[in-house]
Amino acid sequence: MNTAAIAERSLTKNPWPVAEVSGLTLIQSPLMKEVEKFQHAFTTRLGGNTPAPLNWFNLGRHWTTEESRQDAMINREILSAAMSLDHRTLTVPGQQHTTNIFLLREGDQTALPLPNFDGVATPSANHPILLHFADCVPVMLVDVKQRCLCVMHAGWRGTAGGIVTKGVELLTSVLGCNPADMVAAVGPAIGSCCYETGQEVPDQLAQSVSNPTSLVQLREGKPHPDLKAFNAMQLYEAGVAQVDVTDWCTACHPYLFYSHRQSAGKTGRQGAVACLH
Ligand SMILES: [Zn+2]
Repeated sequence: MNTAAIAERSLTKNPWPVAEVSGLTLIQSPLMKEVEKFQHAFTTRLGGNTPAPLNWFNLGRHWTTEESRQDAMINREILSAAMSLDHRTLTVPGQQHTTNIFLLREGDQTALPLPNFDGVATPSANHPILLHFADCVPVMLVDVKQRCLCVMHAGWRGTAGGIVTKGVELLTSVLGCNPADMVAAVGPAIGSCCYETGQEVPDQLAQSVSNPTSLVQLREGKPHPDLKAFNAMQLYEAGVAQVDVTDWCTACHPYLFYSHRQSAGKTGRQGAVACLH
């Protein structure tokens, strides 16, 4: 496939349905839902009791009050229970806009503090991984034959640094996976509809893919990069078989999603949770 065709595929968005699960409003990738012995969900802000301005189902511990941090821990338990996961085994990296991916192996202690990681990969079953988002791009990657999982946080810096390319490389080189057996989901994040940036953002993003031109819209002379498409293109160029990209934009739907841009920074975090079984 030539790079123009890959770019077109990367720009394709799919409708992802919203479902009620044990009182929570969750979203799933139709493609990932078909993967056997694999569970995943993208949370929304609906379902919990978190007070404003983090209302209503905040999973992040970024707010500095003790009440807020405890509330986030309770919400993690509620989410785990809704998905029949053990919240004590959740692995939750700190997310610092790096491209570092932690490799969690069988027998490793879970609930480790991982301050300097923006992704977690594992070949192990029953090791749920949770990352947090409020506009940045959540990416899940699964090798359906070798049974390996990687969940990543790709803001514009992580995207420019090629974190998902690194995720594919890690699964391939260290865990013996094959990109042709991998499927990926690119979840709810800010769309190019709502993401006006300075020129430095597309300049740095351009290095991450072979054909960036169509992935950045120009409106009134201002660049509007499509971060979801940049991640999808990186995945396709790394050889991933299929990528399901949601059409949900976090900033367009403030009732459903936390959006850093839409809220001027005063907001909560939704989650991307995944687990092999
Ligand atoms: Zn939008």
